[in-house]
Amino acid sequence: MPSKRNKLTSHMLTGVVLAAILLGALGCEKLRVRDRPNIVYLLLDTLRPDHLGCYGYERDTSPRIDRMAAEGILFTRFYSVCPWTDPTIVTLFTGLYPQAVLPPALRKVAIEQKLPMELETLAEILRGEGYRTAAIMDHPGLNRKRNFDQGFEEYVNLPKKLGWHEWVGTPPETVFEEFTAVVEKIEKGPFFLYVHLVYPHQPYTPKPPFEGMFGPGFRKLSRHEKQGVINCYDGEIRMTDDLVGKMYDLMLERGLLDSTCILITSDHGEGFWEHGLREHGNSLYNELLAVPLVIRPPKAMNIRPGTVRDLLSNIDLFPTVLEIAGIDTPPAIPGESLVPYLEGKGAPSDGRIIFSENPHSNIPHGLACQSEKQKLVYEAWKPIDDLAVFRKNVSAGWPLQLFFDLQKDPLEQHNLAGRIPGIQLDLGNALVEHKRRNDEHRKTIAPETAPLDPATRQQLKSLGYIQ
Ligand SMILES: [Zn+2]
Repeated sequence: MPSKRNKLTSHMLTGVVLAAILLGALGCEKLRVRDRPNIVYLLLDTLRPDHLGCYGYERDTSPRIDRMAAEGILFTRFYSVCPWTDPTIVTLFTGLYPQAVLPPALRKVAIEQKLPMELETLAEILRGEGYRTAAIMDHPGLNRKRNFDQGFEEYVNLPKKLGWHEWVGTPPETVFEEFTAVVEKIEKGPFFLYVHLVYPHQPYTPKPPFEGMFGPGFRKLSRHEKQGVINCYDGEIRMTDDLVGKMYDLMLERGLLDSTCILITSDHGEGFWEHGLREHGNSLYNELLAVPLVIRPPKAMNIRPGTVRDLLSNIDLFPTVLEIAGIDTPPAIPGESLVPYLEGKGAPSDGRIIFSENPHSNIPHGLACQSEKQKLVYEAWKPIDDLAVFRKNVSAGWPLQLFFDLQKDPLEQHNLAGRIPGIQLDLGNALVEHKRRNDEHRKTIAPETAPLDPATRQQLKSLGYIQ
C-alpha cells in the first residue's frame, strides 16, 4: 500500500497535470483554484427529515432550512450508511463503508477506533488541490486523538476547547462566534468548512426562546410523555435552524453566498418508539436511516431548484463534494456523485440497492439493504465477522431477518421474512457480496485505536452509549 504522503503527492501531481491539460485545451479560467466554489458542509446530528417543513412536517421547525431547500435541491429519499455517528462520519470523510475501514466490534471498542492515517480523507484531497480546510466539531468523540482532524488546517473541537458539555451542546451563540472566526480566517478561499452541530441530539434542551415553542416538555423520558419528548426535539431543531440561518446570513453579508455550495445533512435519524425503541444506534429501521439532504449549489453551476425523489445514500456525498469542487474521485470509492441529479440528469434508480450497516454497535449488529420495493435486515447478537457463517445464515434465513414490502408497508410494521423467499434471498446475496467486498478492503488497512480516558468512558456509560 502506498504511503499517504505518496498518495497525496501523486494526487496533487495528477490534479496539476489534469488542470494544465484542461486549461490548455479549453482556455478556461474556471479551473483555476481561486475560482473553485467554497463548500460549507453542515452536519446536524440526529436530524430526522420528517421533522423539517421542507419534508412536509406540519410544525414550523425549519423556516431557514426550508428557504435554502427552495433555493437548491431537496433529496427526499436519502439514507445513511449507519444509524449512529462515528461510523457514519468515517464514511463521509473517507467515501468508504464503515466496515470497509473499521473491524466489526462492540461499541465500547468501536468508540476507540481511529480513522486510519493511511486513508486519504475528503479534507486531505481538497487541501491537496488548493482548498483552505477547516472543521468546527461540537462532538467530543470526533477529535484529534482519533485522527478525525486529518486534512483540516483549522480543527476546532468545541467540547475539548470549552470543556465537556454532557451532550447538551455548545451554546449556539458560541458556535456562531467560532463559525465567524473561522470564516474570517479562510474566506479568501476557496475553502471547505465542515461544521458538525451536536443538536438536535438528545438530551433535547432547546434554549429560550425555542424552549416550549412547540408545547411543554417532559419530566422523565417515558412512553407516556412521548409528545413532550417530541416537543423538545422539535424545539431543538428550530434552535438549530436559527443558527443555520445566521450562518447563511453571515455568508451573504460577506459576499460569499454566490460562490459557495451549502450542503445540509445529518448522520442518522432518531427513534420515537415506532418499533418500541427510542434514540439511535439500536436498529436499522428507516426512522434511524432516513436523513435530510439539501444542496444549495454555487451560482456558477446554474442549477434550477428542484426535488430529487430517487433512492440514494450518503455513501454518495464524498464523490459529490469532489465533483462540485471540480476534482476527480479516486478509484475504488463505491459511491457515485449526485451532481447529475442536481442537473436534472439523474439516472432512474430502478434496480439500485442501497446498503446500511451497524457492525459497530451494542446490539443488535445488523446489515441491511433496500431497493425501490423491498428491504432486508439481517441482525445478529454479536459482531458479524465471519463471511462464511454469514453467507450460510443468510441462505438459511437465520437467525433473525426482517423483510419488508416498502411500497405497501413503508413504516416497516409487517415482517414478511420467509414469505417471498426468492426476493429475500436476492437481497441476502447482495448483502453477502457487500460484506465480502468491504471485508477485502478492510484487510488492506491496519486498524488503529485510541483508548478513552476514564472520565469520558464514564460519561458515555452514564448516557447508555456503552455498557
Ligand atoms: Zn449522531
